[in-house]
Amino acid sequence: MKSLLFGTGGIPISTKNPDIHEGIKQVNSLGLEAMELEFVHSVFIKKDNAEKVNETAEKQKVVLTAHASYYINLNSTEKQKIGASKSRIIQAAKIAYLCGGYSVCFHPGYYMKSTNEQAYEMFRKEIKYVMNSLKDENIKIWVRPETTGKVSQIGSFEECLKISKDVEGVLPCIDFAHLHARTNGKNNTKEEFHEILTKYEKALGKKALENMHIHMSGINYGEKGEKNHLVLKDSDMNYKDLMKTLKEFKCKGVIICESPNLEKDALLMKKAYYSM
Ligand SMILES: [Zn+2]
Repeated sequence: MKSLLFGTGGIPISTKNPDIHEGIKQVNSLGLEAMELEFVHSVFIKKDNAEKVNETAEKQKVVLTAHASYYINLNSTEKQKIGASKSRIIQAAKIAYLCGGYSVCFHPGYYMKSTNEQAYEMFRKEIKYVMNSLKDENIKIWVRPETTGKVSQIGSFEECLKISKDVEGVLPCIDFAHLHARTNGKNNTKEEFHEILTKYEKALGKKALENMHIHMSGINYGEKGEKNHLVLKDSDMNYKDLMKTLKEFKCKGVIICESPNLEKDALLMKKAYYSM
């Protein structure tokens, strides 16, 4: 990526006659550059329509990312559920790739009753299988476990770095709101953002800094982590210092806004980023 591209998690709210094509056009007319396909309840784009989505995105110069299903648990005690989870990641990756997508993110699952180490081993084993399947089908797209918001969820910052080192083709999707919520209020100062990006670069190299997939929003949280997303100005999320730090580190890639007001906060962050 040549720069940091700002976008919305799904079709902008202000889109008239909302569908995927109108959404992409609206992203462009708002002055944004990216959009995440929300495959969270289903992969709603069919194989036959993917090429058209790709054409629209290219024409509008909008980079597409995707968010895979919410119904994923690679550490389930039921074999069948693990199989279904892997299929959901593969299906989202496949369609996102056919749409010309850059990256697909997902929440790996839950620790359940296993230790963190056991859960990580399952995660690693199953994601390796996913990557091999994608390779066999010649599907080239970044696969990104997301830093998750609840302490019960696999997806700490460290786990996301480790899996990216352990499995080829994998990089983290860094959700800064989740990192903040998961630690009940930490990860929200300039120093902490600096530390996160330093660790990220140290673990994964400069190339990873130039190919980021970031999520941001305001967030409500408690001891167990994430409760719900908020509009930035109704939250304590220190987005200004985050923008400053992303700029200092010359981060490139895509930053997707998941605040309830989608495009408003995406534009607010973009404005902050370019005014510094
Ligand atoms: Zn997510």
